Amino acid sequence: MERKVFQLGDIVQMKKPHPCGSNEMEIIRMGMDIRIKCVGCKHSVLVPRAKFEKNMKKVLRSVESEIQPASE
Ligand SMILES: [Zn+2]
Repeated sequence: MERKVFQLGDIVQMKKPHPCGSNEMEIIRMGMDIRIKCVGCKHSVLVPRAKFEKNMKKVLRSVESEIQPASE
């Protein structure tokens, strides 16, 4: 089984889309539990890491592989 690599700030795609229609989630907190925020409706949910790994389909955009110039 392929190991899923993800990190804080990544945009991930879940197996089941959010009720709002968007299936893009941003990882906004990492720990024992992972907090993800729906890109579509900005609703955030806290899910246990094991459940997150099971429900996560793939990483759409990684902060590391795609460094965007910050304007701050
Ligand atoms: Zn949503």
